[in-house]
Amino acid sequence: MESKQRVAVVTGGAVGIGSEVCRQLALSGFTVVVADLDVQAANNMAGKLTDDGHAAEALRMDVGRAESIAEGFEKIAEKYGRCDVLVNCAGIAKVFPFLDFPLDNFIATMNVNVTGTLLCSQHAARLMTKNRWGRIVNIASVAGMRAVGKGRTAYGTSKGAVIALTRQMAVELADYGITANAVAPGPVDTPMTQILHTDKFRSEYSNAIPMKRYGTTSEIACAVSFLVSEGASYISGIVMPVDGGFLSAGAPSI
Ligand code: NAD
Repeated sequence: MESKQRVAVVTGGAVGIGSEVCRQLALSGFTVVVADLDVQAANNMAGKLTDDGHAAEALRMDVGRAESIAEGFEKIAEKYGRCDVLVNCAGIAKVFPFLDFPLDNFIATMNVNVTGTLLCSQHAARLMTKNRWGRIVNIASVAGMRAVGKGRTAYGTSKGAVIALTRQMAVELADYGITANAVAPGPVDTPMTQILHTDKFRSEYSNAIPMKRYGTTSEIACAVSFLVSEGASYISGIVMPVDGGFLSAGAPSI
């Protein structure tokens, strides 16, 4: 039997940006599926939402594996019979100098960040076509639009590909009432950047941003919430930077 309540699937929803996206979507009344490789963290997140009276569940999904994605969406289809919103937030990042960039990391990053986004979007869109309504939001990055710093050969390339994929999806899914957009965050304090960003990198990055600070997970999730809302019904194929003006800036100290 199909659930009457609208269902939002958030990959990488257990911590960081994804967890705040889950919280905001739950507050908007969606049943939230916290789909993550880290099932314990996903359980914690879904537990917090249900404790607050929202409808949520954790789902173990490795977006780096096609079978895991297929199994996850099969469970979603069986349980709810629908998927109204997909937020592709799962992503990985490691930095290495270009000249020595390891091929295995390049392949792994493209697999999770790009192929994972493609496959999740295909599965979700097939469910969305049933109701001729759907919203897909891909979390890209300013690193897909500009080389943010050294070492991002795989990450930046993968996020550039996510942006191209978003545009392709917007074109091919419009006939089914599905929009596809990307949000491109600037730097945000999350478990990812706590590992990746050194103190020196943080201070230089902040100085290159007109607002002179990192963004918050809430500021990113607000953009996602808008793009999945009815108010965004005529928006598809865009990349929305949420970056404190970083992409607009040139030499910051002039
Ligand atoms: P994070 O590392 O803090 O959290 C990522 C989540 O994704 C984790 O819960 C992790 O378990 C999950 N995940 C990782 N690999 C997965 C896989 N194969 N399958 C399923 N889940 C997986 O990351 P974050 O900083 O919150 O970033 C979230 C998204 O935003 C990523 O796509 C990242 O590239 C993007 N982004 C982040 C920043 C930033 O500054 N934090 C900036 C721009 C873009």
